[in-house]
Amino acid sequence: MIYLDNNATTRVREEVIEAMLPFLRDSYGNPSAGYNFGKRAREAVETARARVAALIEARPEEIVFTSGGTEADNTAIASCLAAQPDCNHLVTTAAEHSAVEKHCAALENKGIEVTRLPLDREGFFDLEDLRKAIRPGETALVSIIWANNETGVLSPIREAAQIARESGVVFHSDAVQAAGKVPVSVEESGVHLLSLSGHKLHAPKGVGALYVNRLIRFQPLIIGGGQEGEKRSGTENVAGIVGFGAAAELAREELGRGREQELRGLRDRFEHAVLKEIEGTEINGDRERRLPNTSNIYFEGVDAEGLLILLDEEGVCCSPGSACSTGVFEPSRVIMAMGFTKERAKSSVRFSFSLENTEDEADRAVEILGRAVSRIRSVRPARKGRVIVRES
Ligand SMILES: *Cc1c(COP(=O)(O)O)cnc(C)c1O
Repeated sequence: MIYLDNNATTRVREEVIEAMLPFLRDSYGNPSAGYNFGKRAREAVETARARVAALIEARPEEIVFTSGGTEADNTAIASCLAAQPDCNHLVTTAAEHSAVEKHCAALENKGIEVTRLPLDREGFFDLEDLRKAIRPGETALVSIIWANNETGVLSPIREAAQIARESGVVFHSDAVQAAGKVPVSVEESGVHLLSLSGHKLHAPKGVGALYVNRLIRFQPLIIGGGQEGEKRSGTENVAGIVGFGAAAELAREELGRGREQELRGLRDRFEHAVLKEIEGTEINGDRERRLPNTSNIYFEGVDAEGLLILLDEEGVCCSPGSACSTGVFEPSRVIMAMGFTKERAKSSVRFSFSLENTEDEADRAVEILGRAVSRIRSVRPARKGRVIVRES
């Protein structure tokens, strides 16, 4: 197998599993319990909190553990609306993950107004559009994805957060894809809320975090026993949190030792070969301001769904863009929001690397891909704008 779908999820690293095991097997105490056995679990949760905080240059007390990125995104939006009952407007972009996009769409049905900033061909929204969209006193939140999960395009977060702050509006960023791949600093960027997910950075699924700046008003989404400083109730997922902490620590160390450059080297080796060896290919999204591991490629005249099936037969895992839970293939709304046709969106595939991948895998993937594309094109010689000739 060649696993090139690391933006969908990643393998849990061995060091992470090792760190978690004691909390599944032996140290099963409830971290809220008063005896020493419970305190051992509490200490492990607090160590993990400090490690996750360090990855994004936050203070440990500003980290709220959640069940993942989706819950963090939902909490950020719900909290801002609940804490500011007079505000009924949200600003976001056309590049958001469905955890933000579909929540916003659901709120629209309840009378909340949502402004979605449009994207240009490279996948960027316009900072002037953001400035114009904000309505002081009415806008409860600006929510902008740090790095898009499909194209990897990086948003100008520092500039956007600055604009929101000038108007006194809370700023949230979904940094699920960015964290661990590029430096993410809440301090340097000035965001108020930031979402993270463990399983996108080699921790297990079902654990994530929301950074909550200590100065903003917060309303919990999940209410109960008052864990996580009353911000997120429910007995902590101790082993998951410990794993997330270990993965965050590894990511931080490795970012300092060139993880970003190494990822870029691998991705570029693959991408340059694809563009050179397979005709009718183009990159979707800006080629510079982009995650170092992500390559979203348009294959002219090739149905992505068919291509993914051929690749799967050869053991190559990749996906059409966003992971789809329904199994129904839908053209990417993000690529269409960039001004491309439905046809192009249906002919685009995302390849996402991690440092678990090797150069040899990248090279073999290019070969397999080349063969699969030729096979599809030979049975359907149609190119854009030409009549499809059916084989007899
Ligand atoms: C995967 C992902 C999420 C959702 O995180 P989960 O932990 O799977 O709930 C949110 N936003 C982005 C950008 C993602 O890539």
